[in-house]
Amino acid sequence: MIVPKDAQIVVCGAGGFIGGHLVAEFRKQGCTRLRAVDIKPLDHWYQRFDDVENLRMNLQEKSACHRAVKGCAFVYNLAADMGGMGFIEKNKALCMLTVLINTHLLMAARDAGVRRFFYASSACVYAHDKQTDPNVTGLKEEDAYPAMPEDGYGWEKLFSERMCRHFTEDFGLVTRVARFHNVYGPHGTFDGGREKAPAAMCRKVIQAKINQKPEIEIWGDGRQTRSFMYIDDCIHGIQAIMNSEDITFPINLGSEEKVSINQLVDVVEDIAGIKLKRTYNLSAPKGVNGRNSENTLIRKMLNWDPRIPLRDGMEKTYAWIHEQIASGKSDQAVVNRY
Ligand code: NAD
Repeated sequence: MIVPKDAQIVVCGAGGFIGGHLVAEFRKQGCTRLRAVDIKPLDHWYQRFDDVENLRMNLQEKSACHRAVKGCAFVYNLAADMGGMGFIEKNKALCMLTVLINTHLLMAARDAGVRRFFYASSACVYAHDKQTDPNVTGLKEEDAYPAMPEDGYGWEKLFSERMCRHFTEDFGLVTRVARFHNVYGPHGTFDGGREKAPAAMCRKVIQAKINQKPEIEIWGDGRQTRSFMYIDDCIHGIQAIMNSEDITFPINLGSEEKVSINQLVDVVEDIAGIKLKRTYNLSAPKGVNGRNSENTLIRKMLNWDPRIPLRDGMEKTYAWIHEQIASGKSDQAVVNRY
């Protein structure tokens, strides 16, 4: 099933990074009935479009969820109170309260007879003992159980995944769930404490250059490994998963290009044309030692593979963050209105 261009679609969390790009892509593809919802004031959305119905609402409230999905055939839930490691390690209760968003959205979607519901899960659902070694082999979908996910944020994601599954089994609501592995790109958070490693590294390198202070602080020993997926690959993957008839279980959506944080810094330094003195903050939040995606299933089922190598995606991300910082914008003031 391909989501029809004239279907009523709602993107929840549309003022954020991935939600904003999803709305942008739907517009580009000619979708005409788009609703975008976020709790942030409209002038803080990363991307906002005047020909889209933009609503500022708190989706933890049930009544707001009913309004959000009213008349909708397709719901994309990308709303969450989240951030990088620094945020999720210090805000476990806030992360868990996001359960209200997906719960109320599922109830509202069921009541409204929604045709299909997308939920953005995370690689943080994977069991801790599978991620202790930087030379980790990729995480397969089955590695989420027996469960011991990231405390707070990961437990909420795993619970919400299961809620989707049971809404399908018990109420017949068709749901699709993707486990995103670190997504990065322009039009996302880069300072203020919620940013993730790729954006944080770009900001730190840019600031070191601007301030002519050739040093960088790295959280942990820099040897922890991750993979990073460029936003365009993520948006393409979300659509492929939503359109699929067969993906009725949570599936990885990520890159298999594993790098250490030190290698990520190498990439950013290379883009910036600078070499920085590195200091390692061993008491800062750093997350698991190793995490990578294993894409056998999605490759087989959807013929999906990320197309954008880390170096290329980071170049675009660096350029955008550089533009924001050079023009004096803080994260909160970054708004692109079309
Ligand atoms: P983001 O923080 O940029 O966007 C999330 C948006 O949700 C924000 O704009 C926020 O204001 C909004 N929101 C939070 N609480 C809300 C509420 N009560 N009502 C309405 N809106 C609310 O994050 P993102 O990177 O775009 O992530 C989108 C989704 O993907 C999230 O569910 C996130 O957990 C998931 N995810 C992201 C990544 C990543 O690397 N970016 C990785 C794994 C999973």
